[in-house]
Amino acid sequence: MIRKRTQVGIVGAGPAGLLLGHLLHRQGIETVILENRSRDYVEHRVRAGVLEQASVDLLVATGVGDRLLREGLVHHGIELRFGGRGYRLDLTKLSGGKSIVVYGQQEIVKDLIEARIAAEGELLFEVESVTLHDVDTSSPRLRFRLNGEEIELCCDVIAGCDGFHGVCRSAMPVEACSIFERAYPFAWLGILAQAAPTRDELIYAYHERGFALYSMRSPQITRLYLQVAPDEDLAAWSDDRIWRELHARLETDEGWSLREGPILEKGVTGMRSFVVEPIQYGRLFLAGDAAHIVPPTGAKGMNLAIADVYVLSRALRAFFASGETDLLDAYSETCLQRVWRAEHFSWWMTSMLHRFPDDPFQQKLQRSQLDYVVNSPVAAASLAENYVGLPLSPGPETLGDAHDARSLFSYQRQSTRDEAWVVFK
Ligand SMILES: Cc1cc2nc3c(=O)[nH]c(=O)nc-3n(C[C@H](O)[C@H](O)[C@H](O)COP(=O)(O)OP(=O)(O)OC[C@H]3O[C@@H](n4cnc5c(N)ncnc54)[C@H](O)[C@@H]3O)c2cc1C
Repeated sequence: MIRKRTQVGIVGAGPAGLLLGHLLHRQGIETVILENRSRDYVEHRVRAGVLEQASVDLLVATGVGDRLLREGLVHHGIELRFGGRGYRLDLTKLSGGKSIVVYGQQEIVKDLIEARIAAEGELLFEVESVTLHDVDTSSPRLRFRLNGEEIELCCDVIAGCDGFHGVCRSAMPVEACSIFERAYPFAWLGILAQAAPTRDELIYAYHERGFALYSMRSPQITRLYLQVAPDEDLAAWSDDRIWRELHARLETDEGWSLREGPILEKGVTGMRSFVVEPIQYGRLFLAGDAAHIVPPTGAKGMNLAIADVYVLSRALRAFFASGETDLLDAYSETCLQRVWRAEHFSWWMTSMLHRFPDDPFQQKLQRSQLDYVVNSPVAAASLAENYVGLPLSPGPETLGDAHDARSLFSYQRQSTRDEAWVVFK
């Protein structure tokens, strides 16, 4: 067996693992990232696409935001659509100047992999059979196979960034943690279509046939979702049927219509809320989907992953600089405050916008809530505050070097709702 050593062993090269490696590298902390898929696979895995303002600021401030600044689409509002018409919520006005940016998760992954390679950091793809050992000691170890060789990686700390189906969470003894979970009686059928968007902001549609979401990934590509049954058979959905259903749920009495195009990808994603508590055990720290899942309605999953690793990187900086463990000890508690806010918001958006089968009482409540949100500035402001996102962590934030902060916030003033497809300069 080959033995190696590093300060932080990171399992998973999704947004959480790659960003943690990047932030720690900037602080002079050595890491090894293990990923069981190929580089090509992770760089083309289409998932989330909405970045909160604080996530954008962090990526830009730490030097991995150049392409994001060029190609990301700044959005200042969203639309809620119900009863045959749309209602725009001006997120920027309602939140005191913040906005969101649409930039595909796979693009962030590509940018972070490029930065990792440029920094000559270790990033091992297609590792097999990762196992965790001695996580409750000061010398935790990871074992895995790579190119037929058994490797043992001795670490000071292990970061479990391996998503919901990874192996790290199960290295915590069941008696040391509690699980909080909610399942929903529906799923999302998502498509990526080669069709220029006919709208420059996201549309959340509440419809008697079920929820639909209109979003985009670039000026040429739309990303659309339909509420479907949790066990939906994708084979039953021809392209024709998907478009028919999208037209029915998204079109309004005001004449807006959807542009069709070749469907490049389709898939069904289950909806779930899940939190494990605490998200740390001994020298094992979970981050992102490994620790918590939200239904995608609030666009929070990737943003939570980013916030977790930001908090963890600061705690590890203090730990490796002076041996101080206060921030590390508080890691779980610090992250979970933000996680539960996002859990609530995601559950609330999901509950307000989806059709619950055979529940007329719920439908009356939903209409009342939707009317309230679009008519009450206070209710709208609450939605906007949560949607654009809360600070990454409590207390003052140090996003990066002053030098790197050059473009922070500068994009806020560069676009208005009336300019179509405003991109960062
Ligand atoms: C199918 C799917 C669709 C989604 N769609 C949306 C969406 O449309 N909108 C939205 O807002 N959010 C969406 N999300 C949520 C969002 O994408 C996640 O919150 C985000 O990916 C979290 O990042 P992460 O780094 O924590 O986990 P992940 O991105 O899951 O990364 C974990 C990484 O660990 C690797 N890994 C797993 N097990 C091992 C192992 N044993 N050894 C080594 N490596 C391992 C995985 O291959 C992966 O690269 C979706 C999530 C999923 C799963």
